Amino acid sequence: MSKLVGDKKFMERTLISDAPRMIGQYVKLAGWVNSRRDHGKLIFIDLRDRTGVVQIVVIPDKESAYQNAKDIRSEFVVEIEGLVKERPGGLEKDAKTGKIELEAAKITVISKVEAELPFDVAKSELDANLNTLLDNRNLVLRNKKINDIFKVYAEMIKSYGDVMRENSFLEIKTPKILSAATEGGANFFKIKYFDRDAYLAQSPQFYKQAGVGAFERVFEIGTVFRAEPHFTTRHVNEYTGLDAEMGFIDSFSDVMDALEKVMQRMLLDISKNCQAELSEYAAGELLFSDKFPRLRLTEALEILDKEYGKKSEDVDIDPEGERLICEWAKKNHNSDFVFLTHYPVSVRPFYSMPSVDGQYTETFDLLFRGVEIASGGQRIHDYEQLRSSIVKHGLKPEDFEHYLDIFKLGMPAHGGWGLGSERIVQKILALGSIKEAILFPRDVKRITP
Ligand code: ATP
Ligand code: MG
Repeated sequence: MSKLVGDKKFMERTLISDAPRMIGQYVKLAGWVNSRRDHGKLIFIDLRDRTGVVQIVVIPDKESAYQNAKDIRSEFVVEIEGLVKERPGGLEKDAKTGKIELEAAKITVISKVEAELPFDVAKSELDANLNTLLDNRNLVLRNKKINDIFKVYAEMIKSYGDVMRENSFLEIKTPKILSAATEGGANFFKIKYFDRDAYLAQSPQFYKQAGVGAFERVFEIGTVFRAEPHFTTRHVNEYTGLDAEMGFIDSFSDVMDALEKVMQRMLLDISKNCQAELSEYAAGELLFSDKFPRLRLTEALEILDKEYGKKSEDVDIDPEGERLICEWAKKNHNSDFVFLTHYPVSVRPFYSMPSVDGQYTETFDLLFRGVEIASGGQRIHDYEQLRSSIVKHGLKPEDFEHYLDIFKLGMPAHGGWGLGSERIVQKILALGSIKEAILFPRDVKRITP
């Protein structure tokens, strides 16, 4: 077997990003027509592929290429062969298409555009409201600035997987079709499953705890379904969760320490590998340090009262309070992150480990630039304690038979988190809505395109 076998790239043509190194050579490029302009008898085409944009010049002397170029419009898919030439003063003239151009010798139209295009996606900013942008998603995703959101997203997902694997978490995939709506929540989508009903998972919680029983440390990048009728800029009904669960912890501080390291790593990887994308969004420097500030929820509520005149009737913090506490953390700790800890038993799920006082829990939320991005904590690992917590929360142990089984078989002290991937990218790039960070978002009103 050749030593090159696994090393070879998939089928590849000349890419636009490689063309500057091929001045004087005859190459074949392929991509979409970003724009087409006529200057006297010359036709200029900006050709776009996944690596960039290059200017093509079509001169009347190259007759067949010229004839084909005449019909070309934006978004046509074309193959163009020709000579790579240096473009005098090109870089200064047009930063988008760079310092070379291709003199076309042969043009083949691979696919025409049949539809009227509602936007010129070659523009740097698309001037339309969010709904229009989402209605026309297939076209809109070709706009460079919007396209780049998903490069940042992909880098984040890669980074998450990398840092988890490096810390010996095993990647797992848990079922999304469930027989019962567990956790007592009303936020489940019910589906037809052959001759019975089933539900779409609104969290991998129980299965990742089962994962601890088998593998100690697990993580999942998986779809989460939430049937909540939200109309906010931070909720959708289908999102991707970055979950983790780890055994043999001493306390829930271990879980926060781990999540802190994960967030730092993701932001560092994105800062390093997505510089161009970040600069397009000008969302400000990411502020984080080795230790994120940690506040008990009760302390946070006091700060809101004292420093912002915000009284809360609730034992919990509301979205406005989360925004203000982030402002406070930025001002006082120069941090875009803040952990809130020790939520009361009454606002946390039954599997949360209570603190010794019995009133609060060993749980946390992580807030980033004004919103919650993660919830986590230590879980109850003792069978009897878990069973009685189910009862205390007004639920029936019989409904949790398979989940409870895990705890009859020996479980270490453990904890973990559920982290929302799209909110992270939304906040890193300062996008107005979480939906901008999702290819094809699903909300109360939208399940197309
Ligand atoms: P919120 O209070 O903001 O509605 P939550 O506390 O209900 O969120 P969790 O069950 O703690 O959410 O889920 C863990 C994480 O998943 C959240 O911190 C958030 O980042 C993300 N998340 C939760 N619900 C949604 C949603 N509907 N759309 C997008 N992301 C979500
Ligand atoms: Mg939460």
